[in-house]
Amino acid sequence: MTTVRVCPSCRKPVAPRAENPFFPFCSKRCRMVDLGRWLGEEYRMPERGMAEREDELPAAGHPEREDLDA
Ligand SMILES: [Zn+2]
Repeated sequence: MTTVRVCPSCRKPVAPRAENPFFPFCSKRCRMVDLGRWLGEEYRMPERGMAEREDELPAAGHPEREDLDA
């Protein structure tokens, strides 16, 4: 029986663990891509919270707005 694993990063067939030091990825590069992806998501969460607070700031203090009204 043969179980074909696919790389979680690029979906290509992956060599068996015995001959693949980067298992379950097909290459070192794909392993780094996947690691970076979930690390990036962890870092993005606090950043998104800050962005939402910035969106709530009132748009007051724009000199151009008064020009449009006049
Ligand atoms: Zn890959």
